[in-house]
Amino acid sequence: MKSGTIIKGIGGFYYVKTDSGIIECRACGKFRNESKVPTVGDFVDIDVDENGYGTVKNIKMRKNFFIRPPIANIDALVLVAALKNPNPDFLFIDKMLIIAKNNNAEAILCINKSDLCSSDKAEKICKIYKNAGCKTIVTSTLSDVGISELKSVLNKKVTAFAGFSGVGKSSILKKLTGLDLQTGGISKKLNRGKHTTRCVELLEYGENSYLADTPGFSMLTLPEIPSEKLLEYYPEILPFAGECKFSDCKHINERFCGVKSAVENGDIPLTRYESYRTFYEYLKQKENEYN
Ligand code: GDP
Ligand code: ZN
Repeated sequence: MKSGTIIKGIGGFYYVKTDSGIIECRACGKFRNESKVPTVGDFVDIDVDENGYGTVKNIKMRKNFFIRPPIANIDALVLVAALKNPNPDFLFIDKMLIIAKNNNAEAILCINKSDLCSSDKAEKICKIYKNAGCKTIVTSTLSDVGISELKSVLNKKVTAFAGFSGVGKSSILKKLTGLDLQTGGISKKLNRGKHTTRCVELLEYGENSYLADTPGFSMLTLPEIPSEKLLEYYPEILPFAGECKFSDCKHINERFCGVKSAVENGDIPLTRYESYRTFYEYLKQKENEYN
């Protein structure tokens, strides 16, 4: 029995990185009955036969699991936004922060294209998100600003990138790994008839550091957390709720609301409050649909 990490899965084959190299494996039949599917990122135990082929026997407990894109055990989620071209989408950043926290993954905000704007614009955004408990890194792939800092923060982690098209994800990945993912030798797609299936792969770049080659993280929907728990995902806003007059205040339409006063006084950034409201209303509506 050996242990390792699934770094790639294609057509029923799993490639497991072990301390004696990458071993091609099939899944053990029992997973089908248990409706478990070995997933990229899984820590697994495998049996290796005399020809060097393996069978995945056991999937270790997952820290987190995403269905689309299919990946498990992400340590860090890097939310990439550009200072300009395109402008940062705060609702998206806030949604991804909630998703990261909900999945026990560290969220890192990467503000790219710092060469396009003055530094105070980047500083303003960093301040908002530092207060929100998020690590922030300002980068430029043109001038290499922040790249080594990003690399050191991601050391020995399994990292996935999220962000809209055009913000610079591929450029950053290329800087970190030296691989050209757009044009390079890594096959990104499997052609099956008219459907094109995207296959997720963990790229190792340095000892025990992996990047997930996944474009799909922009499309994730908000997890269905109870609406009254939403404010716990806004650690910098939470203390102001202690000043609300009504103990069940939702900070939406209530009077004498500590949160709304803090927004008016400029102690809470408007974009953060607006995302709270938007998500609160979304969650509330979901709850009403089910009840
Ligand atoms: P992706 O869609 O998120 O993978 O973004 P790409 O890496 O393909 O980059 C989109 C465009 O932005 C390309 O034209 C890049 O050359 C450009 N770009 C990427 N990083 C930077 C940067 O730091 N500064 C500037 N000015 N342009 C960048
Ligand atoms: Zn309130």
